[in-house]
Amino acid sequence: MAPGHMMPMVDIARAFATHGNTKATIITTPTNASRFNDTITRDTDNSGHQITFLTISLPLKEVGLPEGCDNLVSTSTRETTFKLFRTIEMLRPMLETMLVDNKPDCIVSDYLYPWTVDVAKRLGIPRLAFSGGCFFNCCLSYNLEQFRPHDRVEFERQPFVVPNLPDEVTLTRSQLQDLVKRNTDFNELFERLRKAEKNSFGVLMNSFYGLESAYVDYFRNEMGIKSWHIGPLFLFNKPTLDDKVERGDKSSIDAHKCLQWLDSKKPNSVLYICFGSLSRFTKSQLIEMASALNDSGCSFIWVLGKVMKSSENDNNDQISQDDQEEIEEEQQHWLPNWFEETLLENKDKGLVIKGWAPQLLILEHPAIGGFLTHCGWNSILEGVCAGVPLVTWPLFADQFYNEKLVTQVLKIGVEVGNMVWKTWATDETELIQKEKIKIAIERVMGGGEEAEEIRRKVKEFSELAYKAIEEGGSSYNDVNELLKEISMHKQYYMLKE
Ligand code: UDP
Repeated sequence: MAPGHMMPMVDIARAFATHGNTKATIITTPTNASRFNDTITRDTDNSGHQITFLTISLPLKEVGLPEGCDNLVSTSTRETTFKLFRTIEMLRPMLETMLVDNKPDCIVSDYLYPWTVDVAKRLGIPRLAFSGGCFFNCCLSYNLEQFRPHDRVEFERQPFVVPNLPDEVTLTRSQLQDLVKRNTDFNELFERLRKAEKNSFGVLMNSFYGLESAYVDYFRNEMGIKSWHIGPLFLFNKPTLDDKVERGDKSSIDAHKCLQWLDSKKPNSVLYICFGSLSRFTKSQLIEMASALNDSGCSFIWVLGKVMKSSENDNNDQISQDDQEEIEEEQQHWLPNWFEETLLENKDKGLVIKGWAPQLLILEHPAIGGFLTHCGWNSILEGVCAGVPLVTWPLFADQFYNEKLVTQVLKIGVEVGNMVWKTWATDETELIQKEKIKIAIERVMGGGEEAEEIRRKVKEFSELAYKAIEEGGSSYNDVNELLKEISMHKQYYMLKE
């Protein structure tokens, strides 16, 4: 239950309904359903597609979570995140009954719900797993585990090459997820998830063949996992202007004002900065970012996500939801005064969005010349489709692996140079100094030869993305193939019965 997983999952339901004339039922909580209600209503009313919500409420009170706290976006500490996981687990018996009662022909579930494999077996239907990531990331993780090159380095920041991949990919031990390096509380869970993935009918990937063909083949042939690339999912459903404005949540800025502001800018002159839906920075890191932006001189749109409380005063785990609401209130004033004043004096310089931004809409505007991103997979895909060069600043989860795909394999971005992976979006990390940030921004926005080459490459991938979803394209064909296989499975099962 996080936007980065839910948005593509909803897009899968929409793609099934559009392409297979299939009836798709989305199971989620009422609050999460409300984020997508308008989009789905447009689909059903305007296009006659059969998509419905089946809602189920989380027992939030039982674990001490406030009303509406049913998405990772709303959990501000490790403690509240664990509570959310616990309530989701508590739903399992009810969800199982729901699935059995509704008798679907197929279940698509997030890979974090391994138990859906067992329900699918009981019902004699396929379970398709969706992780929200890419093929490259899976292949990299697999080889790290097989060959453990990180066990042979002498220090955390010593670069090493990941063996046996189609390309030479370099990482440091400090950029790896903890569970790759040592036994953590999560190792057992991930083992279970992997087993469930293997026991599933297959894996759905929000990617396209032209972007990472060598890794699609590696995943299928070397790792032996059945999969379908069905992305970029958001393109598949041909989003309207309203879809883009409301994608994932209500926009915190008037989209038309935002577009007007962008219209006044030269092509490729604006840097878009957004760290996804979950990342949090300290006030001191925001000051470094503001200084780098100011010194680089380029125009920008900066989506100021949620801010974290300084660890000098409090242990992060002890922050209550009330405390967090207070922090978020304060966040409105967390940019340095001189920066706010510069923006007030010179409205042309930049836009700061405090809250949810219409990211798709912004990225597609010709004025956007670069995207400073945390390397969440959705953000990378959206940047690629818009043909925008990336400035990479990964923080947690699979983001460092995604960064290496961008900078070392596809060569469509430059690194800010973060070296240290963190477990949670809410954890603090090493401060990145303004000079480092400024250098990376200038390499992309400065208009040099390197920037031009990156721009040329990313535009090529953008064209491939649009081709992939058109009739006869690789993702279009994979969706049709998938629907055929599900249908054949059903016929075979009925004959057996
Ligand atoms: N997003 C958005 N507006 C925001 C922040 C995020 O539309 O202000 C969307 C973004 O377009 C992407 C998703 O939220 O589709 C974030 O997913 P991603 O995988 O990039 O990162 P995560 O949030 O999972 O870390």
